[in-house]
Amino acid sequence: MVGGSDGHFPITFAMFLLFRVAWFLQGFKYNLRRMDSRVRTLERLLEVTRNLSASLDFEPFLQSLVMTACELTSSEAASILQHDPADDQLHFVAAPHHQRDLLRAALVPLDGSVAGWAFRNASPLVVAEAKREKRHFKAVDQLTGDVTRSLVAVPLVFRGATLGVLEAINKTGDAHYTEDDVTILETLAAMAASALRERQLTLQVQTHQSERAELDRLKSDFIAITSHELRTPLGLILGHSTFLRELVAEEHYEQLDIIIRNATRLKEIVENLSNVDNYQTGAARVRERTVAMNQLVKDVTDFFVAEARRKNVTLQAEIAPGSLVVEGEEGKIAIILSNLIKNALAFTDPGGHIAVAAERVPGYVKVTVVDDGIGIPVSDLPRIFERFYQVEGHLTRKHGGMGLGLSVAKAMVEMHGGRISVESAEGKGSIFTVLLPVNRSQASAAEKVFLS
Ligand code: ADP
Repeated sequence: MVGGSDGHFPITFAMFLLFRVAWFLQGFKYNLRRMDSRVRTLERLLEVTRNLSASLDFEPFLQSLVMTACELTSSEAASILQHDPADDQLHFVAAPHHQRDLLRAALVPLDGSVAGWAFRNASPLVVAEAKREKRHFKAVDQLTGDVTRSLVAVPLVFRGATLGVLEAINKTGDAHYTEDDVTILETLAAMAASALRERQLTLQVQTHQSERAELDRLKSDFIAITSHELRTPLGLILGHSTFLRELVAEEHYEQLDIIIRNATRLKEIVENLSNVDNYQTGAARVRERTVAMNQLVKDVTDFFVAEARRKNVTLQAEIAPGSLVVEGEEGKIAIILSNLIKNALAFTDPGGHIAVAAERVPGYVKVTVVDDGIGIPVSDLPRIFERFYQVEGHLTRKHGGMGLGLSVAKAMVEMHGGRISVESAEGKGSIFTVLLPVNRSQASAAEKVFLS
């Protein structure tokens, strides 16, 4: 008979219901515990990430990552391996403290290793029983004396490129690595990957910097030797052609003038080269005299007035009244002003204007050369005072010059303890400002007040 006519059915049914409720509650409690432990792991991961981001040094950073990996996945050990394209193998860059030196020399091949598989396939690999796993690379255990029982390897990927592997071994209690462990390791691996990439970029920058320093040194040596060797024959050419001009008939003046003009131009180039070089090697000296800047600015400007007129450019000097005296070498300050005015003339079209102004500001005499010429692109401004730097390519440019005028001017200004700067807008014009200290010994004190 079906049914509960004997009275047992309601009891059995109630027990069944109770059992189901208990079972459901058990499951619920289990899920709650699991969720709770996940939340705690996530909180810990977040905390660790926050702390790790604050740490800047490469090695301690990776070291903290492996310790965190051990802690969060309950592993006995963890390590980070970086791929070296030179030998196509994996190298340990972070490992447990006591094994660091030992492992630094160890190499892990891409074939026949779990880490190599994770690297090649750019995907995680969990191995529950290392002794049964053919891909397990046993040489590391032989080196450390440890026994790997279980392991997990996740790739270090940065913007699609795999840079290495993060590995954790021997989950405590011989438990198996879970999906959650893989997720935790992948999070830490992403941080390790960006640290490795940053390190690679830093090393590249350092290599380029030292290559650049070496090239600079070669360039300086070349300039020093060339200008030294050219000076004597040039002096002889100039001396003899000037002497000859006195002797020859007037009909040969033109040829000799061409020789003298061009030799003088060459001499200028050689002097510019050695001026910058002497400054950079510290060989240059400033002969201290009192320089009346109002007169000097006027004289140098006047020197270019005829050329400006030929070009149909207005060139004017605006000198503030009162004493504009600095301590320095007149010849060198004249070169600064000449180079700035020469450039303003070269880069200002007919109909344009150039104003050279001098005034006293606290502790300094300030000279500005303002033009409404072609201006300088913003991207070129930071390099404009470098030796040989020109906005247009040297071979394609309309204007002469070697890219030395401004570097010479800067060297001479700095020799006087002064500053030179530029403001410019393409198509609108440029303002070059020179500050020369009135009294060089007080320059640094004044500088703090005025230049701040
Ligand atoms: P260069 O002797 O070849 O002119 P400089 O060192 O004097 O070399 O100047 C470097 C470059 O800066 C110039 O080639 C030019 O492109 C730019 N420049 C300098 N002064 C001016 C200016 N007043 N207006 C526009 N461009 C300028």
